[in-house]
Amino acid sequence: MSGTSALPGVRVAVVGSGPAGAFAAAQLLATPGAAIEVHVFDRLPTPWGLVRAGVAPDHPKIKSVTRVFERNALLPGFHLHGNVHVGRDVSHDELVGHFHAVLYATGAPDDRRLGVPGEELAGSHSATEFVGWYNGHPDVAGAHFDLSARRAVVVGNGNVALDVVRMLALDTDELARTDIADAALDALAASRVEEIVVLGRRGPADAAFTTPELRELGRIADCEVVVDPADLAADAVGGTGGSFGPRVADNLEVLAEYAARRPAGTRRRIVLRFRVFPVELTGTGRVTGVRLGHNELVGPAGGPSVPVPTGRLSVVDAGLVLRSIGYVGRAVPGVPFDAATGRIDNVRGRVRDPVSGTPLPGVYTAGWIKRGPSGVIGTNKKCAQETVSLLVEDLVAGRLHGRSPDPAERLLDRLGRRGVEVVSREGWSAIDAHERALGEPLSRPRVKLVHLDALLSRAAAGTGVPAVGEGGSATDD
Ligand SMILES: Cc1cc2nc3c(=O)[nH]c(=O)nc-3n(C[C@H](O)[C@H](O)[C@H](O)COP(=O)(O)OP(=O)(O)OC[C@H]3O[C@@H](n4cnc5c(N)ncnc54)[C@H](O)[C@@H]3O)c2cc1C
Repeated sequence: MSGTSALPGVRVAVVGSGPAGAFAAAQLLATPGAAIEVHVFDRLPTPWGLVRAGVAPDHPKIKSVTRVFERNALLPGFHLHGNVHVGRDVSHDELVGHFHAVLYATGAPDDRRLGVPGEELAGSHSATEFVGWYNGHPDVAGAHFDLSARRAVVVGNGNVALDVVRMLALDTDELARTDIADAALDALAASRVEEIVVLGRRGPADAAFTTPELRELGRIADCEVVVDPADLAADAVGGTGGSFGPRVADNLEVLAEYAARRPAGTRRRIVLRFRVFPVELTGTGRVTGVRLGHNELVGPAGGPSVPVPTGRLSVVDAGLVLRSIGYVGRAVPGVPFDAATGRIDNVRGRVRDPVSGTPLPGVYTAGWIKRGPSGVIGTNKKCAQETVSLLVEDLVAGRLHGRSPDPAERLLDRLGRRGVEVVSREGWSAIDAHERALGEPLSRPRVKLVHLDALLSRAAAGTGVPAVGEGGSATDD
């Protein structure tokens, strides 16, 4: 990018500090010759998005990507502003007024709903809520999950569904060595759930989960995985025209191994069911079961199989139902949003005016809110790269909004006057150090603070700035 060498200092706001925002920030800082200053805003006091709040606690290696993010956060030109909710504490127009460019990387935090009667009953939850709870997301720190019933049902056939299943099935001695939220650890230790039934509406060859995650289920101590061999028959397996790619072929091999196992009489069982879908959650006041519709798979020779209801219904008793059927993005007020796809309206990361279809000067997007909720952490690196290269291209060509923005300090002063307790990088470092110190004597990577007031108090203590309503939460400290 030699064309950037003559450019004066440019200031970019990145909204969201998950993988997409963190990779974009690093790429902006590394732009040769452009001396770009990057201000990362996040609505939480803690950075790194779903790496902290989504990735399962028993997968610490995956979380180690944060080491790279932490290193980049020390680079000159990087500024973190946690606990700032864009669209609530500060508007899109204000950001545009204080930065040469704004890049949205706000993820896809909402869950898809089943849309069946009984979904609102107590005991019916989204996987999003459950995942947030066991990972210590402050939004759901006070959530309660009733784990007193013998059977739980998980709806969905993706890797998030399998994460949730593992958390319900794992021995808590194992979880006790992780950074799982303490309240979740206590509740799971007292869980009476013995059987977890996983529902997929299509066939095993249509499942989105990947083989290592499927294999992991079979390695859980004192737990067996049950698969009906009938689901692996040619007319039940699904997929496209009987030819499978390597992931599906590997999945089918693992499922065949599970189907061949004899009942082992373990403490817990995971039952993988296919060609079934919830038509109703039963119960009065709280969930007592799921009424299932049964599908058959039909489709043209060589084409994709299509699930078609057979009209047959059955009921599976359960006291807990977790739906894990996908995520959708949430609109940020003032930023063009395509409600049909749940994404910010964009072309390759340039946000576009929905009326004219032309790019909005200086507004960009990356990650799940740009392309939808799919892909692993690394996918966001490439995605952010595409966006940042277009941003730099526009910068070089003089296509940013062209106004000379007000200093960022003025915006931060205004946030202070509004009572927003902005968490700086030093504030986050204080939280991080405190959590790690709590974890060390317990041989845990960290003990998470999960309540907003405790996080803000700890950040303030670390930077010498008194927190509003100082005192924190007795539960966390
Ligand atoms: C439960 C779960 C488990 C996963 N496990 C794995 C795994 O094991 N391995 C793997 O590779 N991938 C995993 N993934 C996928 C991976 O987490 C995503 O690919 C990645 O996090 C998407 O990055 P993102 O930056 O687009 O969104 P996010 O990580 O969601 O980050 C978005 C950030 O924006 C912030 N934000 C949102 N709205 C605002 C606002 N208005 N103002 C300010 N800030 C805002 C949020 O607080 C958040 O920090 C998992 C995903 C989920 C849901």
